[in-house]
Amino acid sequence: QSKSVAVDKKVRTTCSYCGVGCNLEASIKDNKVVAISTPKESEVNAGHTCIKGRYAFGFYDHPDRLKTPLIKKNGKFEEASWDEAYDFIKKELNRITKESGPDAVAGISSARCTNEENYVFQKMIRAAIGTNNIDCCARICHSPTAWGMQQTFGTGAATNSTEDIYHADLFMVIGANPTNAHPVTGAKIKQQVMKGKKLIVLDPITTELAKLADYHIKLRPGTNVAVLNMMLHFILKANLYDKDFVRDRTEGFANFIKEIERQDMDHLAKVAGVDKQLVKEAAIAYATAKNSMEFHGLGVTEQEQGSKTVMLIADLAMITGNIGRKGVGVNPLRGQNNVQGAADMGCQPHQGAGYFEVADEKVQNFYTEKYGVVHPTKAGLKIPEMFDGAINKEVKAVWIIGEDIVQTDPNSAHVVQAMNSLELLVVQEIFMSETAKLATVVLPGTTFLEKNGTFTNTERRIQRVNRAVPPLPGTKTDGTIVTDMMQKLGFDQPEYDADQVLAEIADIVPFFKGVTRERLGKMGLQWPVQEDGTDTQILHKETFKLGKGRLKNFDWKESTEIETNKKEYPLILTTSRVLQHYNAATMTRRTSNINIVSEDLLLVHPNDANKRELNTGDIGRLYSGRGEVALKVEVTDKVKEGIVFTTFHFPEHMVNMVTGHGKDEETMCAEYKVSAVEVQKISNQ
Ligand code: SF4
Repeated sequence: QSKSVAVDKKVRTTCSYCGVGCNLEASIKDNKVVAISTPKESEVNAGHTCIKGRYAFGFYDHPDRLKTPLIKKNGKFEEASWDEAYDFIKKELNRITKESGPDAVAGISSARCTNEENYVFQKMIRAAIGTNNIDCCARICHSPTAWGMQQTFGTGAATNSTEDIYHADLFMVIGANPTNAHPVTGAKIKQQVMKGKKLIVLDPITTELAKLADYHIKLRPGTNVAVLNMMLHFILKANLYDKDFVRDRTEGFANFIKEIERQDMDHLAKVAGVDKQLVKEAAIAYATAKNSMEFHGLGVTEQEQGSKTVMLIADLAMITGNIGRKGVGVNPLRGQNNVQGAADMGCQPHQGAGYFEVADEKVQNFYTEKYGVVHPTKAGLKIPEMFDGAINKEVKAVWIIGEDIVQTDPNSAHVVQAMNSLELLVVQEIFMSETAKLATVVLPGTTFLEKNGTFTNTERRIQRVNRAVPPLPGTKTDGTIVTDMMQKLGFDQPEYDADQVLAEIADIVPFFKGVTRERLGKMGLQWPVQEDGTDTQILHKETFKLGKGRLKNFDWKESTEIETNKKEYPLILTTSRVLQHYNAATMTRRTSNINIVSEDLLLVHPNDANKRELNTGDIGRLYSGRGEVALKVEVTDKVKEGIVFTTFHFPEHMVNMVTGHGKDEETMCAEYKVSAVEVQKISNQ
């Protein structure tokens, strides 16, 4: 598929899968993308890519692409013109807002879309409709990271650059499998570890990186807070904390040390199922390395104590002085290509574009002046609240861009019930996803290869997305669709032009001040960007946004999901991704990657398999109080005893029928990593 052919031109753009944000070069022949390669001149990936990015052109013109608007009539989709679809939506939105007010409408934005598209979408929901009911998939991935880091440092984004990997002496990877989920970054860490740098991994699964780790702390899901408290305790007891940094740059240390010292190490080791001595050695290694660099993923955030875990990670970095210089820091591995950007652009219910609190009167005045209409001040609904609101008939219309919430959000039956309770469900999509099937109106959007704009990657790097080919006939870019609709609703919004929207963003969002498409050039710029175009590789060098960093304490507590269900459902399910597929695999299933991996597998520890008479290749019934799925079993000691693992790529399996209602206590991020389940044999291999 990717063999060398004479091409008409090459267009440099940015990958639309994971938060690494690889630069790609699309080869165009006869107005079609025929191959993807990687430019050598790139800060992010310098000639490297993974199997997802390299074969991404397979999905953009797949025969399954949606190419005409659809309106559901009498339970069946009928093709419609764009005007018919817009008029239908306008009539329904006007009816609903007249009868029930603007808060009966909600929007879910897409981390797959550009900054400019996310910006205009939140503007439509806030300024043209009049509600703060806008959220994005950060709710179910890194909302605890953003929130937790805002509480401790003041800024909810990666403190350092990926390039700092070359300047670190020790890596600590918590609840992340970058080899699969962020492959180019994972490979960089792996190379450095193979050169002799130290590695600590906290993970219940023996990932590729865990195999190389000096310290693999194979903890039970839901016990990150216990293990981090142990690490903090051992560092303080050994007097290995950075006294100067603690004195000059932090506050709250006196109470912090008192709380950490009273923690019972034997108890915490027992609940986490870890070796106390191993945790102690890892803690001392982290504190004594010259530069310790932390990375974390959804194994941190998608837990009931997700935000608390993030704040303890920040504590660890602060008390050891591993913040504010090269080769250190707290570095969330943002899952989706532009989830950082979606939040930056204000696709969250409590903060508008630029992270201004919408409930603040000054902020309301600021947005009101910029948007020309009174900006709503009541904080909006988070995604789980939108679902509950739909079932309670308080939310009557939802507009979703590029999110297959039925397949990817937890407790699929609950999500389906919510969507079926709506009076209007608008879905902007490129394929007929499980969510689009439930829509009242489907609007055919476009892929990253057909649009201009910018994405912001996991290291705050704003990068250009350059149109490689025109939108397929019958489709429109997502920014165009939203803008058309704003105009239909009578809002004074100019025709969609990504560069003009970027100029508006630079006017509103303080850390985008000096950003222009020209200045972004090939390499992009890391925010905050100053008016003169200089960018920022490392945050918190001299001071934190909060002034001093805030040290916070939290005790470990058992997840409510486990506490409530452990007798009936004694196993803990944790989910993640394989290298070849991306989340709901809406895109990767339509590339040649499907030839390599074509089903979700259930990984079961040999002792748990023996008890249930399960062998590799058997079909097992994975079930919880929410639902059940049938999956092929692989018996392996990669998973810890008591833990089962699977992926959620295939709608044939719908693994999220089983996952639960647990949520991070502060942000309502879904607790995908801790679901109480049981497994039973259905049939032999
Ligand atoms: Fe790079 Fe991630 Fe895209 Fe792979 S999926 S090419 S690592 S951005």
